[in-house]
This record gives sequence, C-alpha cells and structure tokens, in this order.
Amino acid sequence: MKHKIAISEEKLDEIFAEHVRDVVLIDDKFSGYRNLSEGNKKALQYLVRAAKVMNIVAMEQDHPQNLALKKELEEAAKTSSHAAKALRLFNSLGGASGHNGIDFEPIEIFEGINLLKGKNFYPQDLSVEKFHQILKDMLKSGQQDNVKKILSARSMVRYSDDGTLKAIDYTEYFAAQFSAIANDLELAAYYSDNHEFNEFLNWQAQALLQNNEDMDMLADKHWAVMQDTPLEFTISRENYEDEMTGTVLEDEELKKLLTEAGIEPIAKDTLGARVGIINQEGTKLLLTFKEQMKKLANLMPLSDKYQQTIASGETIKQTMVDVDLAALCGDFAQCRGGITTAENLPNDDKLAIKTGGGRRNVYHRQVRMSYDEQRDKRLLNALVVPELHQYYSHEADHIFVIGHENGHSLGPNSSYKDALGNYRHIIEENKADVVSIAMMPEYVKSGVIDELMLKKIYTTWIVMRSLCKAKPIESHRVGDLIHFNYLLQREVITFNADKKLNIDFAKLPIAINSLLAETIEIQLSRSPQKAKAWIEKYTKWEDIHIYIANTLQSLGVKNYIEIRTHF
Ligand SMILES: [Zn+2]
Repeated sequence: MKHKIAISEEKLDEIFAEHVRDVVLIDDKFSGYRNLSEGNKKALQYLVRAAKVMNIVAMEQDHPQNLALKKELEEAAKTSSHAAKALRLFNSLGGASGHNGIDFEPIEIFEGINLLKGKNFYPQDLSVEKFHQILKDMLKSGQQDNVKKILSARSMVRYSDDGTLKAIDYTEYFAAQFSAIANDLELAAYYSDNHEFNEFLNWQAQALLQNNEDMDMLADKHWAVMQDTPLEFTISRENYEDEMTGTVLEDEELKKLLTEAGIEPIAKDTLGARVGIINQEGTKLLLTFKEQMKKLANLMPLSDKYQQTIASGETIKQTMVDVDLAALCGDFAQCRGGITTAENLPNDDKLAIKTGGGRRNVYHRQVRMSYDEQRDKRLLNALVVPELHQYYSHEADHIFVIGHENGHSLGPNSSYKDALGNYRHIIEENKADVVSIAMMPEYVKSGVIDELMLKKIYTTWIVMRSLCKAKPIESHRVGDLIHFNYLLQREVITFNADKKLNIDFAKLPIAINSLLAETIEIQLSRSPQKAKAWIEKYTKWEDIHIYIANTLQSLGVKNYIEIRTHF
C-alpha cells in the first residue's frame, strides 16, 4: 500500500471485539416491508440505490483523499487481513479520520492523513488567516457576488487562476453523482403508488440537476408537508462539519465588510440520504406531542422580546414521522462516536424555512432500538443510587427526544441563532434539550404523559445524557456537560459518600427554567463572545467529571457503530 495504516491489527481487533454497536436496518422479511404494495417495494429498491450514491458525495466532501484511500484499502484487503479490518473502520467512520466520541483527538486510519478544519470544502492548505485576507481583498475589489458564492452552503471552494478563490456549485462538482441519484428517484416515482410522494421525488430529482437554490427550496417544501405517505426518502443537508466558513465572523474587519455587502455566511452542507418505511403506530404517538406546541411557544421565556420560530395563531408547519429504516447513507452513515435518533429538517439556514416552508421530523426506529441493556444495568449499579434505577427507561428517552426536536421549533428565530457563529450549534442544541425538559410538566398537565413518566424522563435524561464518557467536543455533547454542571451547581444532582448520583426532583424545574432563560438571553445577545464565555463558564472539567468518565469507560463503551444494510 502507498499509505501506511496507523492502527495496529491488534488494536483493530480490540475495537471490533469490544467497542462496536450494530445498528441493524430492516430486511425483506420485515412485516412493514411485506405489507407494502408491489409498486412501493420496487420504489424502495430504487430509493436505496439512489441513497448509496450519497456515500461517495459525503466522503468527497469530508476529505480530499477519502475516495482514493478507500480504493487503496479495498485493493489491499484482498490479500491483507490488516487492510480488511482498516477498511471496516473506514466504512464505519465514513472516511479516513474522525472523532470516536471518546478521545479528544480524532482517530486516524492512515499515518499523516488528518481531519481538516475546512474539510474538503476548502483547499487543503488554506489557513484561516489567508482565507480571511483573500475574502477581504475580493470584497474591496468589488467581487461581492463571488464572495457570496464562496460563503454559501452549497459550493466547493478552490483556488482560481489569479490566486483568489472560486466557488463550484454542488450541482456542478457532483454532477455525475447527482444525475445518477436523480435518475433513480424518477424511476422510484414511476413505481411508487402515492401521488404526493411521487411529486416530491420529481421535485427532488430536478433540484439535483439544476444550479438553483430555489429548486432545493421547492423540493424541501414538498418533502416537509407529507404526513401520510407509505415511504420516506430524505436528502439531508446539514452544516456541522465545516469549521472554516464560520470563522469569518470572528474577524471584525471582514465581518463589517460582509455586513455592508449584505452577505450572510452559511457553513457548507454535508449531504446525506435516508430511506425507510413509515411506521403508523409510532407516528401516532408523535402527533399527540405536536398538538401541544403552540401552547408551549407562548410559555417560552422572554417570548415578548423576539419573533418566535412558531408564530402564534399560525398553523404549525411541522410534519412528524416514525420510520423503519432501510438505508442510512452519506452524512447519516459517518458514525463518529454517535448516530442520530431523529432529525428535524430543513435547518434554519435553508431557503425553504426562510420563505415560510415547514419542517419534517423523522425518527429513526432501528437506531433507537439498538441499545445495550447489560451496559445500562452496569451503569446504574456503578453510578446511581438504587432508588432511581426504576426510573431509567428507553421509552422515556424517546419522549425526551420528541421534546428536543420540537424544542428546535420554539424560541428565537434563525437570525439570532446564526449570529453566534461557530457557537450557534452548541447553544441551539443545548436550548432544544432544555426546552424539552422544561416543558415536560406541561405535557403532564395536558394528559399526554403521567407523573411517573415525568420522573422517568428526568432521571433518564440526567443518567443517560448528562454523564459524559469523555470531555465533549461535538455540539450535542457539549450541551450535556453544561447541563450536568448547571444541575450540580444548583444541587439538583448530588453525589453521596459512595459517589452515587441522586436527584432532587423538587429543585429540578426551577433550575431548568433558569437555564432556559439564560440560554435564550445568549441567543438574543447575537454575540459570539458572550456565547463563548457562557459555554466556558459551564464546561469546567474537574475531578467528579473525570471519575464519571473513567467509570463509564470501564463499563465498556461502544463508541463505534456499524450499520447493517440489507437492501
Ligand atoms: Zn437537535
């Protein structure tokens, strides 16, 4: 092999023996599949084929050498067991390098191949300083249009002949892949027997073929309104990976120039694709929570000071479905320390949302059902007082996640959130968690859940999510540490002489409401500096955290994921 594998075969054996969790997707024996019409079965096959092409796109976006390295591994794997194991890890991470949820530094499969701040969205050697300087020069010489394209969510950026930068729209850069996907979507639309779904597929196919953000907007809008279709197909566009674009707001001069030019920088989208079958029973439960959202919007702190994401009086433009998954590809399949149990899309930066379109919330059944029961027991025994064990429940966690996803639709709108630059995701994910917990007593009042379930939700949230197995880096996990520290400081959680966690249920609602108010204030401040200082204040990592992290790691941590696809 041209490149040297940086992880020993022994270490790879250990990873696969002890640290991998399987997420098993549905196969053709699954009852939900057998109950589909013949046309929909055929459509599903084409949708899965389309989704798999997105693996190539996401790998290319993630690192300039990913595709070549994968080929190299596949070739070497024919004769080398070491390469075969490295390839397995490569497929799990969806690339040559990535965070594994435990170690501070990302894991690297090859010597000398590491994650880049600008991923492959930007030239590999482009430093932050040089990036800012080029943009300033371009703005001062009247190249506003080009800068806007460079700072858009849907372009790959490369050097131009004159040494400045140029943007290549995704539809151009990924023309071959997008056209293959569009083709399969049209075939799926031909076979599927649901008119509304077919119409969406045709819009989505067109959006992949045209360099026109309006087409994405139209596809998104058709996708987001489907509440009663048999199949699910999603192209996800989320910008958590790109750490380069957001830095432009940290340079005061550049920020000013961009504001004057009316340019709003948006981080680059990593693309994913997801295919599944709608689960009717699970979807019914979600809709009972949806009915409460308008009432909740009015209960948000400082709600008179900003425009709510959900305007009161309007109908809530939000569909929700529980899905049995047939394929997770691209961004969805880059399992780097975690895998998402639900997603609420499109995100606020998307044109569909900015022009009044709705959102669609998709829950991943096979992901949430893939937990390790034995480890749960060991965790409770090691870290939690016995009286609380009865309240630990995966059903409660599912309801917490419903509250989290709905939480994204409550509070200040995107103009406030985006103003926080690189801190926007940490603050927003923290907000969604805190909204979920703070609003749970309201669901009790409405009879959606009972008092016992409320206790289970509080307990499970604290035990499952706020105990960190390592000092967190990823946006969702940083929120976990904030919550732990906040609750510890207010003595909602305490540790007894055996270092076992206890919860003061009476103090919890008061603390959580003040945490929610602080969070909303940060968003309203529009200040990345304030956000940074606030995050630092609540992310102290001390003896108790280290004790918990060490204990959790000693229980065995399955921080790698392999997705088993059968279609
Ligand atoms: Zn979220």
